[in-house]
Amino acid sequence: MTNTRVLLKSRPVGEPTPANFAVSESPAPSLADGDVLRRTIYLSLDPYMRGRMSDAPSYAAPVNVGDVMCGHTVSQVVESRNPAFAVGDFVAGYDGWQALGISNGKELRKLDPGTAPLTTAIGVLGMPGLTAFVGLVDIGQPKAGETVVVAAASGAVGSVVGQLAKARGCRAIGVAGSEDKCRYVVDDLGFDACINYKSPDFYPSLKAACPNRIDIYFENVGGKVLDAVMRLLNRGARIPLCGLIADYNARESPTPGPNWLPLLVARAKVQGFIVSDHGDRAPAFVQEVAPLVRSGRIKYREDITEGLENAPKAFIGLLDGRNFGKAIVRVSPDPTH
Ligand code: NDP
Repeated sequence: MTNTRVLLKSRPVGEPTPANFAVSESPAPSLADGDVLRRTIYLSLDPYMRGRMSDAPSYAAPVNVGDVMCGHTVSQVVESRNPAFAVGDFVAGYDGWQALGISNGKELRKLDPGTAPLTTAIGVLGMPGLTAFVGLVDIGQPKAGETVVVAAASGAVGSVVGQLAKARGCRAIGVAGSEDKCRYVVDDLGFDACINYKSPDFYPSLKAACPNRIDIYFENVGGKVLDAVMRLLNRGARIPLCGLIADYNARESPTPGPNWLPLLVARAKVQGFIVSDHGDRAPAFVQEVAPLVRSGRIKYREDITEGLENAPKAFIGLLDGRNFGKAIVRVSPDPTH
């Protein structure tokens, strides 16, 4: 057995390119007592990985040049010297962009493919779903009848935000980057409306879709979407500040920000949050959202790329809106399919 790995070869300036990554083969690691060796089936691709490619100060340490790119994974145990794990077990972990992972298993979570498809552990029922739950429910504190706006609405986080908002009796308005994505958000996910931010009449369309203005803006992107939303905030609006993907590839400082004066006028509350600080909310999240996913009341879409060697291209596409749904790489065959 060999281990295929995708390494960070150099730090990008602006948009990452395939030259920032290197694919390498190494011998399979050998096990010590207590170790669990697993084969990666699915690798999650997430926007935060752009931050880890950079050594600019952030809330988490960067990946070192020459190291394996980081990332959440779903794997199957292929060898075990740890009584807590048997060969064949499915586990969620953080093995990164590689075909094999090894550790003492402390960080692994066993998965039951009978209760939900394996991919949901890195998507709607994993880190992105929990992000939506914490940001909307705990920070946004939605009340029935309020208007909730979320950008990147067809994506892993945004799709759950809008559906949870609907389940709580809110008006859910999505913002997305194509007509196709907007149709999906309204027709399949059940949002009340979705506006294409690339269309020339974006602001008037957003305004028309929010006749009672905006009570919660779940911030995923920044840039022109934030600028438009700021002009429509209600008094007492809340802004869970989840991500600013429009800035992630900015070469120097982020794109010039909007004028924050409307926040003051609206007495709005903005709160940044990082999902890894909110692990204590995972049980409440799973208790509420897992039955909704099982019954089909919360829908999700996945954008699956075949082969670890194609991960760099898929990741570069994610930062440019080319994914349609949760970005996942199938690293090896899924025996449950
Ligand atoms: P998505 O599945 O939504 O994929 C990213 C999407 O972002 C793209 O498909 C694209 O959709 C949109 N996008 C890309 N560039 C731009 C741009 N310049 N302007 C506007 N939209 C753009 O990703 P996730 O759901 O995983 O993540 C969404 C956000 O949540 C990100 O900002 C991410 O960093 C953040 N996040 C934060 C966490 C936290 O702990 N705070 C945890 C997890 C995620 P479109 O075509 O519609 O533009």
